[in-house]
Amino acid sequence: MMRRGLFGVAVAGAMALTVMGAAAGADAATKARKDKAPPGPSPIAWSTASGPSGGPAQAIGGYASGCLAGGVPLAGEGTGYQVIRLSRHRNYGHPVLVDYLRDFGRKVAGAGLGTALIADMAQPRGGPMRFGHASHQSGLDADVWLRLDLPPMGRNARESLDEIKYVDYDREQVTPQWSAKQSEMVRIAASDLRVNRIFVNPAIKAALCERNWPDRAWLNKVRPWHGHDGHMHVRLDCPPGSPQCEPQRELPPGDGCGEELESWLRKAVPAREIPPEKARPPSPRLPAACTAVLRAGTRMASADVLRIGDND
Ligand SMILES: [Zn+2]
Repeated sequence: MMRRGLFGVAVAGAMALTVMGAAAGADAATKARKDKAPPGPSPIAWSTASGPSGGPAQAIGGYASGCLAGGVPLAGEGTGYQVIRLSRHRNYGHPVLVDYLRDFGRKVAGAGLGTALIADMAQPRGGPMRFGHASHQSGLDADVWLRLDLPPMGRNARESLDEIKYVDYDREQVTPQWSAKQSEMVRIAASDLRVNRIFVNPAIKAALCERNWPDRAWLNKVRPWHGHDGHMHVRLDCPPGSPQCEPQRELPPGDGCGEELESWLRKAVPAREIPPEKARPPSPRLPAACTAVLRAGTRMASADVLRIGDND
């Protein structure tokens, strides 16, 4: 019962955090300006960048304070996957992420699981977003919905889909809709060596832990985090050729089940104990290299210059 109480508090806390964050946004922004150097271009500048920057692909900075040079789009549809809400222009990533998702789709199709729904990746040049995510900034994060019941459909129809939430918060466990298909999809996603970690709701992690798997090593990369009850958040390692990419902390050894999962639930903190200015930085400080990424010409323009040069 204790666990249930904390679980509920944490969820309520996450909702309160959003409200508090919005109410305190102006104060926090003012404080940030006083305490620190200018934070750099606003999220609006990043979200309106029309296309990727040219040059070699690089993930720059942290997952929640970085940007993406030489990004590429994931095609709207491919074997075993379709991208939702393409109008958001968040289907960009480092080429390693795009390759990963294409491979993931092929494995999902090969396993007969259905069609995966790829949600937000990064903006064409990464960077902070105006809404929805603190991370997803360096082209190495992608959200994948957990529902597998939808057939391939037109792009317009994919603009207004609803997530299926797989967590029953009263019973602190997954809903009856959670099936072996979802579990297998998470296993496929986490078994790829390019993955650093995957965030899912603690109840989903618990459901994965309870299954009998011949190999449990991949469970190490599946990390509990509140929310994430309708999608998993896949995060890749810093790729080769990105010297400014800031790696994540090493994960502790083991499958992360049992005591570790329980303790994660215990340390969930009600939102009122978190100072509102720490809820979400209004505009994180980015590496200096990101300013150049934002100002750079588009990949298309660079390619044109290259072609003219070649003809000469
Ligand atoms: Zn995410």
